[in-house]
Amino acid sequence: MEKEIDFDRVEYATNREIENDEGEKTGYVKMFSYDTELYFYEIECPYCQNVFEGEQELDQRPWWIECPDCTRSINVYRIKDKAEKKVKNRGPEGVEDADVDVT
Ligand SMILES: [Zn+2]
Repeated sequence: MEKEIDFDRVEYATNREIENDEGEKTGYVKMFSYDTELYFYEIECPYCQNVFEGEQELDQRPWWIECPDCTRSINVYRIKDKAEKKVKNRGPEGVEDADVDVT
């Protein structure tokens, strides 16, 4: 990511793998925000491996960001949503995300 994250100011940061349709982890998303309104992100598209970055105002969840190359939308879910889902599906050992969710 070209932008350096200032962790003293950051309100939200995430760094996780994203899965393609087959459930393979073929992409990633790095995202952070200083005010939880404008989000800076870098994404590797799990469908076409295109890496792109940008900034976007994201207020309503779930978030979808479209890949500019293959135009498929990538769901950037919130860590808590995913953690709860995993707990339901597989039990607590399924929760292993390296996310920092500072709110
Ligand atoms: Zn793509």
